[in-house]
Amino acid sequence: MTMVIRNLRIAGPTPLPPEVVAALQRPMVPHRGAWFRSFVRDLLGRLRVLHQTDGEVFVLPGTGSAGWEVAIVNLLRPGDRVLLLVNGDFGERWCRVAERFGLDLVVREVPFGRAVRPEAVARWLDESPGTRAVFLVYNETSTGVTNPLREIAAVVRESGALLAVDGVSAVAGCPLEMDAWGVDLVFSGSQKAWMCPPGLLIVAVGPRAWPAVERAGFPRAFFDLREYRAAARTGDFPSTAPVSLLYALEAAVARIEAEGLERVWRRHEELAGWFRFAASELGFRCFAEAGFESPTVTALLPPAGIDPERLVATLEERYGIAINGGQGRLKGKIVRVGHMGWIERVDLESVCAALQREVGAFSGS
Ligand code: PLP
Repeated sequence: MTMVIRNLRIAGPTPLPPEVVAALQRPMVPHRGAWFRSFVRDLLGRLRVLHQTDGEVFVLPGTGSAGWEVAIVNLLRPGDRVLLLVNGDFGERWCRVAERFGLDLVVREVPFGRAVRPEAVARWLDESPGTRAVFLVYNETSTGVTNPLREIAAVVRESGALLAVDGVSAVAGCPLEMDAWGVDLVFSGSQKAWMCPPGLLIVAVGPRAWPAVERAGFPRAFFDLREYRAAARTGDFPSTAPVSLLYALEAAVARIEAEGLERVWRRHEELAGWFRFAASELGFRCFAEAGFESPTVTALLPPAGIDPERLVATLEERYGIAINGGQGRLKGKIVRVGHMGWIERVDLESVCAALQREVGAFSGS
């Protein structure tokens, strides 16, 4: 039985634009042939532009979660001190991965729904001398909070530590100027603002990260960035290239280029602002603290008497609209609506119309 979702508004996978769907249907070619290698080199170059970096970008077969491990095994050695900043479920998950590696892990948490502040990062770095790397989730998909990456990066830069960023639900939707801000490594997932199916991890690596990659001391094989770098020089992959997903990514990149990167960021910001306002008119409260609300996903506290999990189920059953509930500690407390990638105002208007009907129905009006 196929499930009919008319409006896919979860925080990823996101809807695929028609040209991305068409790209997925292209025939296979020799993945080490001259044509495909030149296709890959061209794509990686364009991804650099979209990350605003002169550094290198690689595409790995894998999902966002692989990025946590990629950052650890490529930047660190056992016993290295890492400051891991947590303000949501994905930060917690990164912690659970990092705990397995025998690092000197310093975890600093701020209440979920609030943003990590640069002043606090400066203080924590002072308290933890010798920190080699700071790990931060740019856009906490679980809370709808976007951390002030630019300001945090400036503080981390000053300390001499490296900054590795989980940009899984941020890159291509939230502003990112990797080189200008001084981000050393950032990874993202194809199923989010990249408008592609799940399955690709896009990793951008800045120049300061490479000495750390050479020094890193964990066993690494499939995730060894040195192998991706060597292969990328000729448009190759260490393993068989994920051909169809790369075609899809190229089509999505072309779409972003056609709209213009800054216009894409602005569209996300404007739609998110419109949606927050509309939801607040319906009695929902934004879970993210004011000033740090995400351009790609909005977390909402429903009006009193409305059960978030039931609301999620009702939207899907009655309207074919898929949104998320809360996850981890926030399960049963919030709903989340994704608005990243291929999204226009009308997609959110239909969510609001359904919310309006259901909020009215629950409250008996
Ligand atoms: N990090 C963030 C911020 C995410 O939103 C997600 C997934 O939603 C992940 C990591 C994990 O990505 P994946 O589920 O693709 O492994």
